[in-house]
Amino acid sequence: MKVPLLDVNAQNLPLESELTAAFTSVLRSGQFIMGPECDALEKEIAAMVECKHGIGCSSGTDAILLALMALGIGPGDEVLVPTFTFFATAGCVARVGATPVFVDACPVCFNIDTKKAAAKITAKTKAIIPVHLFGQAADMDAVMALAKEHNLFVIEDGAQAIGAKYKGKPVGSIGHFGTYSFFPSKNLGGFGDGGFLVANDDALADRARLLRTHGSRPKYYHKFVGGNFRLDPLQAALLRVKLRRYDEYTKQRQANAARYTEKLSALPGVVLADPAHCKCASTQDAALAAAGAKIVLPVPYAHNDHIWNQYTLRVIGEGKRDALKKHLTDNGIGCEVYYPVTMDQQECFAYTSDWARSDCDTAHRLAGEAISIPIFPELTDAQKDAVIARIAAWLA
Ligand SMILES: *Cc1c(COP(=O)(O)O)cnc(C)c1O
Repeated sequence: MKVPLLDVNAQNLPLESELTAAFTSVLRSGQFIMGPECDALEKEIAAMVECKHGIGCSSGTDAILLALMALGIGPGDEVLVPTFTFFATAGCVARVGATPVFVDACPVCFNIDTKKAAAKITAKTKAIIPVHLFGQAADMDAVMALAKEHNLFVIEDGAQAIGAKYKGKPVGSIGHFGTYSFFPSKNLGGFGDGGFLVANDDALADRARLLRTHGSRPKYYHKFVGGNFRLDPLQAALLRVKLRRYDEYTKQRQANAARYTEKLSALPGVVLADPAHCKCASTQDAALAAAGAKIVLPVPYAHNDHIWNQYTLRVIGEGKRDALKKHLTDNGIGCEVYYPVTMDQQECFAYTSDWARSDCDTAHRLAGEAISIPIFPELTDAQKDAVIARIAAWLA
């Protein structure tokens, strides 16, 4: 049996008549820039993530860029970003002329190592961008404590985690800004590019709204230099159809993860990640060796509501991850490495100082160990069992 990593049609095609009706309604309205569909989506998502302001954007990347612009971050400023993330997080920092300073990852949740983040704060540090990677919140208490102590802005990159919670609070609602993406592979997957920005501060949200449309207010009078970062009403209308089912999609992802964890953890050589090693990465190697670990399964922290954008395994041992990837791919099981190259090792960031790229050993290791397996909501039991059986066969 073949199992794709993601099957967007399995989610979208059952909604075809509703999606077509939403499209037709926008078509007939003749309103293709902003308007009621955008306003409605902004209100609905802001309410869902418990934020005062919601701002539809052209992409998750542009939402991060807009947040940095609204905060006035630019040349001479340093911004702390995780080194183990999708490129956009760091790329946006460079695009506003600031310097990304790369921070190592936690081996348990893959998120920013907040102790190492603290060690990289200088007089130039203006902001930190925690990423809620794979659908699980970063350690926001630690991030907010650092921000308070050092007067930093916090932009939560929630591209992979819209609706995930940290200690009962939706991610994106905790920092100064939160960003989300509607890229088709994200949990609220759209029909092309799209993103979203949230904030609770009135002045910051207003500034971001202004910058979203070339900084103009009224039209043709420009107080700031912004850009065109708007979400289309067509996209908003289609997303609203899926937003009504969002809780259901999340529950299905969580059920898929629970089944993987139950079945895979029963296999020899498979161990569960131990949240106790989060703050002491150095002690986990001995524990993994003692357990004879070949594969480590993801285990969310008890205080997090994980929404499983990815179910990511760690495959222990030189070359083993690539071997598992080949085995799965050869047998028709979709899988992907998020992410094979950390940001500190990207060619385009070689210009940053050695210090900005230093001390990222755990992330380098994760880049060689991580592999994500299919987790999309519509996976059937037979498909999940096929994935499990192929992993079992590889281990045997
Ligand atoms: C997808 C993603 C983005 C960018 O979102 P786009 O909508 O593709 O621009 C940013 N950060 C992270 C962590 C992502 O996964």
